[in-house]
This record gives sequence, structure tokens and C-alpha cells, in this order.
Amino acid sequence: MGRDFVYVILGGGVAAGYAALEFTKKGVSNGELCIISDELVAPYERPALSKGFLLPQAPARLPGFHTCVGANEERLCWNDGPGLLFSIKYTSGIELILGTRVISADTRRKRLLTATGETISYKFLIIATGARVLKLEEIGINGSNAENVCYLRDLADATKLVNIMRMYTGGHAIVIGGGYIGMECAASLVMNKINVTMVFPGSYCSKHF
Ligand SMILES: Cc1cc2nc3c(=O)[nH]c(=O)nc-3n(C[C@H](O)[C@H](O)[C@H](O)COP(=O)(O)OP(=O)(O)OC[C@H]3O[C@@H](n4cnc5c(N)ncnc54)[C@H](O)[C@@H]3O)c2cc1C
Repeated sequence: MGRDFVYVILGGGVAAGYAALEFTKKGVSNGELCIISDELVAPYERPALSKGFLLPQAPARLPGFHTCVGANEERLCWNDGPGLLFSIKYTSGIELILGTRVISADTRRKRLLTATGETISYKFLIIATGARVLKLEEIGINGSNAENVCYLRDLADATKLVNIMRMYTGGHAIVIGGGYIGMECAASLVMNKINVTMVFPGSYCSKHF
């Protein structure tokens, strides 16, 4: 036995939040649409994680940057009261299934299997699983999960980075990657009074722009 929806959005990131906005504009009935995300919070504007979230003063915090503030739309409101975290009514009848990883999809039977063994059926599936961070091992370096190695992809990563910055004021950080996220991160570290060395393969930052 499992749950059954007309529309399922797999992934709870930026695309999911904006897709949900479009559904709310057209109107969805209770139980028609669900978002499944392995993150613990409703869709948020991920770009804020390397910008306002890392500021030493007046940092951005949820719920202030849930989608869809990036398009000057109102935030899709949600209720994060105790006990409601893993399956909540998001807004306008959208079910939000959080902290739930989908491990396989049976597209013939139109159903998804979650890591907890639940099946979720759909008539239409929207896949919005986004990207993931490249771990150190994948670039030939050991120590992915060593203490004080930070990544910057989701809220948990950004929260860890903020805590570490607070602990090491005046310290030294190495930023691997000279794209825009590496540069934004380096700028935030400096604003948090951390000395930074950037390491990247090209002769200058953001070579691709
Ligand atoms: C720090 C940072 C700063 C950025 N700044 C900018 C910027 O300034 N401008 C810009 O244009 N772009 C920026 N980006 C890129 C932008 O955030 C992405 O392009 C955008 O998030 C992509 O949206 P998405 O919904 O496709 O994927 P994501 O936002 O990555 O969302 C994917 C979601 O799917 C979930 N998921 C994945 N697999 C599963 C599964 N099997 N089961 C359940 N859930 C799953 C993930 O946990 C996540 O919630 C930035 C990205 C980062 C990380």
C-alpha cells in the first residue's frame, strides 16, 4: 500500500518550488500533487546559500528565502510545526514529503520506491533532482568527510560552513574551485575574517564566463 497522486515532483529544489508555483496558479486540488525531497526543508532559493546565508551580519535564514522569492513571487507558505516535518500540506493542497529519498522508479507501473520502503504512485512524474556536489574522492583526493572539509550544495552544508567560520575567526581556509560559487564563498570567508587561498586549474577565476 502506498500513496497515490496525479502529479509527483521528484526533488525539492529550485525547479520543484517554481513548478509548484505554476501549479498553484492553475489551481490544484487536495491530494493531486506532491513534492518528494530528501532535504528536510521545503524548496528554497539555493543561490542564497553562497550569498546572504554566509554573511556575518544579518544573514539570510529560512523561512526568508523559500521559493519563490527569487522571482519576486510570494513565498509558498508552509507549516513547519512539530510533527509535521516529513509530510506536510505545503500550500494549496500540495503534499510535501520531506526527508525522503527515492531509490527507484518503475515507469511502467508509474510508481516510485522510497528508501523507507513506501511506494508512491503517479499519473505524471516531473523529475527535478538537480545536481550534486563533487566529492574530493571523485577528483582523486582522499578525505571527503574529514573534519573541517566543507561542501556547499544544500542547507546542511551551508549551516556547517557557518558554524566552522564562527569557530575559526582569524584562521585560514583553502577554497577548491574558482567558479562563481568558489568566488562567492571566498568573499564570504573574507567577510567573516578568515584568510583565504583559492586553488583552481586555470590562470584566472571563472574562466568559463
Ligand atoms: C551555493 C550555490 C549558489 C548558486 N548560485 C546561483 C546563482 O547565483 N545563480 C544561478 O542561476 N544559479 C545558482 N546556483 C545554481 C542553482 O542553485 C541550480 O541551478 C538550481 O538549484 C537547480 O535547481 P534544481 O531544482 O534543478 O536542482 P536542485 O536545486 O539541486 O534540487 C534538487 C533537489 O532534488 C533532491 N533530490 C535529488 N535526488 C533525490 C532523490 N533520489 N530523492 C529525493 N530527492 C532527491 C535534492 O535533495 C534537492 O532538493 C547556485 C547553486 C549553489 C549550490
